[in-house]
Amino acid sequence: MTLAEVLPSVGLAGEPPLDPGLWPVTTRIADGGDLTCGGVSLVRLAARFGTPVQVFDEAEIRRRAALLRTAFPDAEIAFATKALPVRGILRRLDGFSADVCSAGEIALARSAGVPGERILVHGNVKTPEDLKAAFAAHAGRIVADSADEIDQLAALAPAGQRVLVRVTPGVDAHTHHALATAVEGQKFGLSLASGAALDAVGHLLAQPGLRAAGLHCHLGSQVRGTSAYEEAARRMVGLLAQVRDRHGVTLDQLDLGGGFTVPYRPGEGAFDLTGAARRVLGTLRRECDRHRLPVPRLVLEPGRWLVATAGITLYRVAAVKGGFVAVDGGMSDNPRPALYGARYTARLVGRHTKAPRRPVTIAGRHCEAGDLLAEDVPLPADVRAGDLLAVPVSGAYHHALASNYNLVGRPPLIAVADGAARVLVRRETEEDLLRRDLG
Ligand SMILES: *Cc1c(COP(=O)(O)O)cnc(C)c1O
Repeated sequence: MTLAEVLPSVGLAGEPPLDPGLWPVTTRIADGGDLTCGGVSLVRLAARFGTPVQVFDEAEIRRRAALLRTAFPDAEIAFATKALPVRGILRRLDGFSADVCSAGEIALARSAGVPGERILVHGNVKTPEDLKAAFAAHAGRIVADSADEIDQLAALAPAGQRVLVRVTPGVDAHTHHALATAVEGQKFGLSLASGAALDAVGHLLAQPGLRAAGLHCHLGSQVRGTSAYEEAARRMVGLLAQVRDRHGVTLDQLDLGGGFTVPYRPGEGAFDLTGAARRVLGTLRRECDRHRLPVPRLVLEPGRWLVATAGITLYRVAAVKGGFVAVDGGMSDNPRPALYGARYTARLVGRHTKAPRRPVTIAGRHCEAGDLLAEDVPLPADVRAGDLLAVPVSGAYHHALASNYNLVGRPPLIAVADGAARVLVRRETEEDLLRRDLG
């Protein structure tokens, strides 16, 4: 065993150390500037599967799943499928529920063997096809986002369908406005402050064919602090008490959604999961006591926090021009920088160099000037065409948001563990790309 294996953040002679918190747990610095993940050389993996390629460390996903279970031992944990809609990932999250929001995600959850009672159906719009798929899957809970949807469910759902009401608790999670989903004036949920949420619960309770299972809220994504969750728990328990007082019904589930942040660049703070658990569970108990309510069953829906850090994307450098390092992927495999200014770092892999580092912009291959994958990334000054770059923290909302812009096939997803690489999703071919074009 080498020193770098014992202390993964210690570089081999001259190699920069791995930034703590950004790389999957099994990542190691190897000879010649290579990295290994799950015991697999990233240089060899890129040669075998081509680039761009997305790598997933199974141990990292398992580690995070275990941390969640320990922090919230009595909660039901539903993986937000939209973060990484891949059958092999759902299968590896054995015992987790699945939060889905389309017929496609329902089909995926079913094909991964998620039992119907563990499927939660979300979305501010559920089409007739989505609802049909939900009923066929015997989805345990449907989360209603409007009074119209409660009417729709009353007309169409099988008798006894359990329904949660999505509430806008008015809590600002201090994240990007496109990711803030619990403040007033955005499209999701029913307002707590205006009384719309309480009215909707009444409307739901008046439908003899439906069962009111509880309340739901989701603060948004990339939520850094834990106080927003405490505040949400406090307000939601207050609403449970109002429901009891007005309608004489005690709802037994409280779903506080997902949104736990992960760091993407060196120096960004990690989410304090243990602290959040202690504070949220404490608040729940205290507030329920105060309102003389039984503590509801807690449901959580993490997406990003579970899978983001397990992923690494490998790109091949195609050209270096001024301060730009252009690679063979881009906004088609990661639109997040272009969509909401997400920031990333990157590392040269597979070549030892003593060149000083200088900040560069990593540019994608697509025909838009905004197709930049990362800015201000300190790379060795001698970075050149043919080099391999690894971008960490690319496990969530990359594969999910990928497109075929410029008719570029989407990259494969390769799981690594114990020295073996397994294809979870193969690379998209030209045949795949042309299949739907019937003209
Ligand atoms: C997106 C979403 C999540 C997951 O968000 P993350 O930031 O990935 O944890 C959970 N619940 C709902 C309703 C969502 O829309």
